Amino acid sequence: MPKPTRRQLAVATALVLATAAAVTVTSTAGASDSAQQARAAIKGGKAKNVILLIGDGMGDSEITLARDYTVGADGRLNMDRFPLTGSYTTYAVHEDGTPDYVTDSAASGSGWATGVKTVNGRISKTPGTDKAVPTLLELAQKKGYATGSVTTAELTDATPAVLASHATDRSCQGPADMAKCPTDTLAAGGPGSIAEQSVNHKVDVLFGGGKKRFDQKVTDGTYQGLTVTEQAQKLGYQVVTDNAGLRGLKPGRPVLGLFAPGNVPVEWTGKPAAVGGTDPQRCTTSNPNRPATTPSLVDSAAKAIQLLEAKQKHSRQGFFLQIEGASIDKQDHAADPCGQIGETAAFDRAVKLARDYAAKHPDTLVITTADHGHTSQIVPLEATPPGLSSTLVTDEGQRLKVNYSTNTPGLSQEHTGVQVRIAAQGPKAYRVLGVTDQTDLFTTISEALRLR
Ligand code: MG
Ligand code: ZN
Repeated sequence: MPKPTRRQLAVATALVLATAAAVTVTSTAGASDSAQQARAAIKGGKAKNVILLIGDGMGDSEITLARDYTVGADGRLNMDRFPLTGSYTTYAVHEDGTPDYVTDSAASGSGWATGVKTVNGRISKTPGTDKAVPTLLELAQKKGYATGSVTTAELTDATPAVLASHATDRSCQGPADMAKCPTDTLAAGGPGSIAEQSVNHKVDVLFGGGKKRFDQKVTDGTYQGLTVTEQAQKLGYQVVTDNAGLRGLKPGRPVLGLFAPGNVPVEWTGKPAAVGGTDPQRCTTSNPNRPATTPSLVDSAAKAIQLLEAKQKHSRQGFFLQIEGASIDKQDHAADPCGQIGETAAFDRAVKLARDYAAKHPDTLVITTADHGHTSQIVPLEATPPGLSSTLVTDEGQRLKVNYSTNTPGLSQEHTGVQVRIAAQGPKAYRVLGVTDQTDLFTTISEALRLR
């Protein structure tokens, strides 16, 4: 770059000062953001890249719990540092289009992936007629963007599934799991299981768990008798299963990383919540059941960005990447506060990675949100909730009581129908302001990448 002239420097300095002043007045959370970032967030324009970070089940309670425990009540997580923040509604619909107030991850993911609300359990298909609706990932591929999906769940679980598959029911994850999707089977002329569809889409980067689904044998069609993993290899995929494999990946071919037989094991452990509460506990920031060779979410996400960027080196279009912290939800269902907080903290490190990337690439739209609220609630120490609860001792040395009472003890705790946070920076980020709906996120990303 040529050296800037004195006049250019003066103009730049004036702009920085003016915007910094505006940011200080309107948003303390944005005060630490660069002026350029705040300007881009309000201005709009085309995004070269979009990084969409989904904390599954990460409602305001889950965010606050992780904040209180790790950085303190007065601290701020990385996800708290976006310049622009709003809320969005997450409800699903019944087959006739009437609202179903509590969504699952399939219907909610379909909402942002396609812009169309659907019934709980469905993957990017319409509620009544069960017809496939084009997804953000499919539209981005058509426009020449590189695409990727990184998750701590099985890659065939609902949140990643909504991007590159269409299924009557979320349970149809592998060729042997097709009971609830009679019209989606290859034998019926359908597109096959979620695993098969995901690799057929030639998504450039697929990192997560669910190796057992991909080890199932294809039952019909071109790849009959092969496993889905072998099908992926025939389609040109490089397949890796651990940290060393991840580190060794080179750009040039699509990549399938299967880092666990099922969901990727969680990072932290502790006592689950119990009826009548637990003794005050500190969380263990490790998990004996997590092999040391398992990549962290942030390491997978970093490699994904590196590979996607390399693929687009000579292109004007960048990439669309979804990163999911999946087990915030799963540990909430299990009423395990330490597991839940550890996964939220791990997700927050991926948020930092995305924001650090965007700081160097301001044409990147970064969005952090959740797919639905969940059960955990911070309650007063003197409360005696009838369901499951646990007392934690936070990093700042205080006691905190968390309550899980959305279902009878012994049953899985439930999602809630609450609105959730959506925060963003970069081109078109202003579209998250106010109270919007999950389906508006489809439009935001479509407009940012000029997909339609
Ligand atoms: Mg999920
Ligand atoms: Zn859930």
